[in-house]
Amino acid sequence: MNWHTRIHTDLAAQAAKQAYRRRTPRRADVPPPEIDFDGTRLLNFGGNDYLGLSRDESVIAAWQQALSRFGSGSGGSPLVSGHTDAHEALEQLLAGWLGYERALVFASGYAANQAVLLGLLGKNDVLLADKYCHASMQEAAALSSAAFRRFAHQQYHQLAALLPQYAGRCTLVASEGVFSMDGDCADLPRLHGLCREHGAWLLLDDAHGFGVLGDEGKGSAAAAGMQPDILIVTFGKAAGAMGAAVLCSHHTAEYLTQFARHLVYSTAIPPAQAAALAAACTRLRQADDLRARLRSNIAYFQTALGQIGLAEKLLPSSTAIQPFICGSNQAALDAAARLRDFGLYVPAIRPPTVPMGQARLRITLTAAHSRADIERLAEGLHNAV
Ligand code: PMP
Repeated sequence: MNWHTRIHTDLAAQAAKQAYRRRTPRRADVPPPEIDFDGTRLLNFGGNDYLGLSRDESVIAAWQQALSRFGSGSGGSPLVSGHTDAHEALEQLLAGWLGYERALVFASGYAANQAVLLGLLGKNDVLLADKYCHASMQEAAALSSAAFRRFAHQQYHQLAALLPQYAGRCTLVASEGVFSMDGDCADLPRLHGLCREHGAWLLLDDAHGFGVLGDEGKGSAAAAGMQPDILIVTFGKAAGAMGAAVLCSHHTAEYLTQFARHLVYSTAIPPAQAAALAAACTRLRQADDLRARLRSNIAYFQTALGQIGLAEKLLPSSTAIQPFICGSNQAALDAAARLRDFGLYVPAIRPPTVPMGQARLRITLTAAHSRADIERLAEGLHNAV
């Protein structure tokens, strides 16, 4: 078989199982909560800009000013010449705010997850991860020479049974704070307790909890009153921008600086972006009003769905991610198409991103939505299924 045939055959197979993916450009100049595809204006229930901060004036001004002063790029990887005083200031702000000795900034959450797992885990080490952890972790685990076992989603008794099997080895337990496709929260006190009991470290990817949960938006761990050994926060969601940081001890940061290849061999984010991220963090700390509005939107949506008899279609979630289960790929695609005809954008999420037979509408609520927007969503769902 040659490449042409191979690619053609695989794409046809992808289409046959209703799993073909397409990127559709949206108009970049349309602010939330609306979205515009090809001139069609829709209400957006398909983004992770949970607080609407991508349009925050203080962050935009900080980015613009820093761009004029610092130029467009960092000019190098962090160890050579790319790490600037703007990066250093952001890392110190994050470490002080979130209560860690050190923070290391990365270009994305995907890179941060891979950098930590591949940088830290050697062949005698062990990674135990919730089965629903992000693709970036699953992939790093597959690439790593460490032993890798998964426990069923939130089935901590399985983790409790696995931990003693690796006694005496460096073991990392990985979980998300808020799971990206289900919206449920990990039982962090339980995870923390199990890790302490067995001398394992807890790695928490809090992409969807950071900025949204806890005092000052410090995230899932702060909300649960505990601190993971390594915390990963990302800036592409509630912070309304892009990038990520790893929070850890001084020694762990030093270790990652030696061995995390994404840090050693990849260009540092632009200094202007680092300055904008610092402004976004400052804004996040003061965003109790936006967090309260988001919480009230979540409660309003759940009540509205209960009133029209659709509450049982939702997975149990108290967060901004409200998954509406459709079942087959076709059912999810049909529902998304009907919602679109009704003026609503809600993405259909299909396997392998979610388990087979659990294709869903991944509804995301934000602080930028009004009560009327949510009523329209409930009406749309009522008509669409
Ligand atoms: N972790 C989780 C839980 C995520 O949902 C995502 C984004 N989909 C990432 C990591 C990757 O973050 P980024 O988009 O910054 O690469």
